[in-house]
Amino acid sequence: MRAVGVFPARREVRIVEHPQPSLSREGEVKLRMLEVGVCGTDRALCAFEFGATPAGSDYFVLGHEALAEVMDTGELVVCGVRQPCEDAECDACRSGRQDFCVTGRYTERGILGAHGFMTEFVVADARSLYRVPRELRDVAVLIEPLTIAEKAFLQFQAIDSRTPWRKERRRAAVLGAGPVGLLGAMLFRAAGFEVWVCSREPRSIVAEAIGAEYVHSLAGVGQIDVVYEAMGAPQAAFDALQYLGANGVFVFTGVPLASEPLSLDLHSLMRRLIMRNQAIVGTVNAGADAFERAVADLAQFHARWPRALASMITGRYPLERFREALRDPGIKNVIKLR
Ligand code: BGC
Repeated sequence: MRAVGVFPARREVRIVEHPQPSLSREGEVKLRMLEVGVCGTDRALCAFEFGATPAGSDYFVLGHEALAEVMDTGELVVCGVRQPCEDAECDACRSGRQDFCVTGRYTERGILGAHGFMTEFVVADARSLYRVPRELRDVAVLIEPLTIAEKAFLQFQAIDSRTPWRKERRRAAVLGAGPVGLLGAMLFRAAGFEVWVCSREPRSIVAEAIGAEYVHSLAGVGQIDVVYEAMGAPQAAFDALQYLGANGVFVFTGVPLASEPLSLDLHSLMRRLIMRNQAIVGTVNAGADAFERAVADLAQFHARWPRALASMITGRYPLERFREALRDPGIKNVIKLR
């Protein structure tokens, strides 16, 4: 069957003939892939900035934002990305929370040491699958990127619970207007926050449609309770830290790539962190809780902002045209396998 293969050693990305997988362990199910989203991580993998092949293979199959159909039952599912490490002492992985793996020896499908989903058939552990209602078929490929925002939101809530009094008129700032940023903006709006989406890009119709304000800087916004960072640009992100309000939480999700020299006023930063009881937290990947919430929240977004949500999928391409999907501008380009 056809697949998009990344050969890191040869610095080559091309369509490969990949053997069709078959069930080999208890608890596995076979999936027919329907759609796979393309994101910044895929672009970085295709530029060989990181990524690793599974043992014994000189390529890995790309793709981690997947919507599939269970072959036996026809159910729609989205697939978890990270697979646990094997260390008996990694309590996180042993508890099914590989998104908090402590050894760093996890694998990630389509990213790190495991084949991904840009192909026709896949075998996956049933525990890594999340059922999706049929009504969400056309937008469900957005669930995996939404899980990044869901985990960030759960992390924010956990930290925010340290100030348990009733809070009204809460304000969230979203850094970045890509899919992870905009889905996060929807999530904060749905949770009742006033939302500012901050990006250098031209104005976002999606941000406006969901009632968020679109700005190029957070100066003058006022007390910000949470900054949700989704752009992976360290200088701009740390510059925005000065606008975080008292008792605020700054959540980083955008993995930065190429290194650029940074300048930071560490004295003021440290002073503000202490004097305003602020917290900075990084979060990566997502657990079952975030996936389940993402399915439920996507249904809510779909009911409330159907056009804005659908407009986030800006292109659908057959597998053969994966290069265009990676290259073309837009919010979320998708490989359509069926
Ligand atoms: C994926 C996550 C993954 C992270 C780091 C993101 O693009 O959505 O599942 O953990 O990259 O590899």
